[in-house]
Amino acid sequence: MQQKPRAYEVQLAVIGSGLAGFAASIFALERGLSTAQVGNTGAVAYTTGYLDLLGYHPVTGQQMLHDPWQGLETLRRDEPGHPYALIRNDEIADAFHLFTRAVSDMGVNYSAPGENNLAALTPSGTFKPTLSVPLTMLPGVEAHRRAARTRIVDILGLKGFSAREVVANLQDSWPGLSAVTINFPGMESGSQVYPEVMARALQVPAERELFAQQLREVAGDAEYLGLPAIMGIHEPDAVHNDLERLSGLRLFEIPTMPPAVAGIRLREAFEQIFPERGLLLIPQQKVDRVTPEADGTTLRLKDSYGDVSIHAQAVILATGRFLSGGLEALRDGVREALLNLPVTQPEGREAWYRERYFDPRGHLVNRAGIEIDPQFRPLGRDGKPASKRLFAAGVILAHQDWIRQRCGAGIAIASAYKAVESAAAMLTRQT
Ligand SMILES: Cc1cc2nc3c(=O)[nH]c(=O)nc-3n(C[C@H](O)[C@H](O)[C@H](O)COP(=O)(O)OP(=O)(O)OC[C@H]3O[C@@H](n4cnc5c(N)ncnc54)[C@H](O)[C@@H]3O)c2cc1C
Repeated sequence: MQQKPRAYEVQLAVIGSGLAGFAASIFALERGLSTAQVGNTGAVAYTTGYLDLLGYHPVTGQQMLHDPWQGLETLRRDEPGHPYALIRNDEIADAFHLFTRAVSDMGVNYSAPGENNLAALTPSGTFKPTLSVPLTMLPGVEAHRRAARTRIVDILGLKGFSAREVVANLQDSWPGLSAVTINFPGMESGSQVYPEVMARALQVPAERELFAQQLREVAGDAEYLGLPAIMGIHEPDAVHNDLERLSGLRLFEIPTMPPAVAGIRLREAFEQIFPERGLLLIPQQKVDRVTPEADGTTLRLKDSYGDVSIHAQAVILATGRFLSGGLEALRDGVREALLNLPVTQPEGREAWYRERYFDPRGHLVNRAGIEIDPQFRPLGRDGKPASKRLFAAGVILAHQDWIRQRCGAGIAIASAYKAVESAAAMLTRQT
């Protein structure tokens, strides 16, 4: 096939296809900006699907936050360098509402972000504080709150999800809980089954009928059945509703170990629907080179059809951390991989980790990242914005520990909102 170079001209280019990149594209399209996005699969395929705002008190560390909005006030006081210190609560709330509404419109419905954190089930039968959950998972929050008679179902051949483990970890606080194992239709041999494959199989109505029959047979007197997250990839709410109708039972999903279906749903919804809404999406590719020019910035990459260049007036860097390749850990320090922006990091590698893995203070390397100004522009080595056209969003930002603070999606969504707002203001000033 002959390869032809392709060149595009847009107002905004987003580098990265994680939650921050996708959130940035949602906000940019809402503002009517012509937008391009480039990125390959990132941490999004690993997430539980829960959208965390802030789950743990930054100082006491161990205290699960009931009111994350109040927690944010404390966080800003105690950690003035945290990215949340640059975003007001009303802006964060706005960002969450816009994001969950847009994702729901794409066919993956989310609960409306509220005043308090929800206690959401993890694959191992513990709870995590989170702000918004997929509607397929919400009845699990309800069932626990009501301590309703609930049966956790696992599937023969499915690794990393054990109904007995969930029950063993929860039975003290949830007495009406029991466990059962079923076969996935057609997989009675017990050979390994995979969440993504089962989820795609349940898109098929005939498969749902067989599966619902299995559920009916093991339900006993349970009010709710909790299943690993396998209820479809596209339009999971329709699959969930249909399975409830066919089984006559109240069902909910529990996230499985990564790569998990909830993240795959988001990625496929974004990749399918964004281009229909006008986004120039170049999926599964990485930007190789970024060249600043007088009238904009040019991103360059190569895909299987040849060279691509995107000339943009503004760029948002949302390349994530080590897992996604936004940051690189080298022998002599942590480096920002694409633009070689300075990275705030501990002095020397021996300071990266504390002695105990579960040290409640967290590990210093997890707070490494790039510095930004209040307009979310990355700072260069002279402490000034590296470019008036460059903005940053997501967990690449310094001074946050999303794992320990349970704030991964929140930082991604809220910082993308601010980065797009600042980019839009710059574009307006320019015209
Ligand atoms: C196992 C796991 C479980 C999680 N569970 C939760 C949870 O329950 N709740 C929650 O709120 N958060 C959770 N998170 C965190 C959440 O996924 C992250 O906070 C969020 O994905 C960060 O988004 P991001 O866009 O900043 O980075 P990422 O998701 O890491 O995305 C970065 C993107 O940049 C791309 N990229 C890198 N370099 C380039 C380049 N040169 N050109 C183009 N693209 C590039 C990558 O391919 C990737 O697409 C979890 C994360 C993991 C790993």
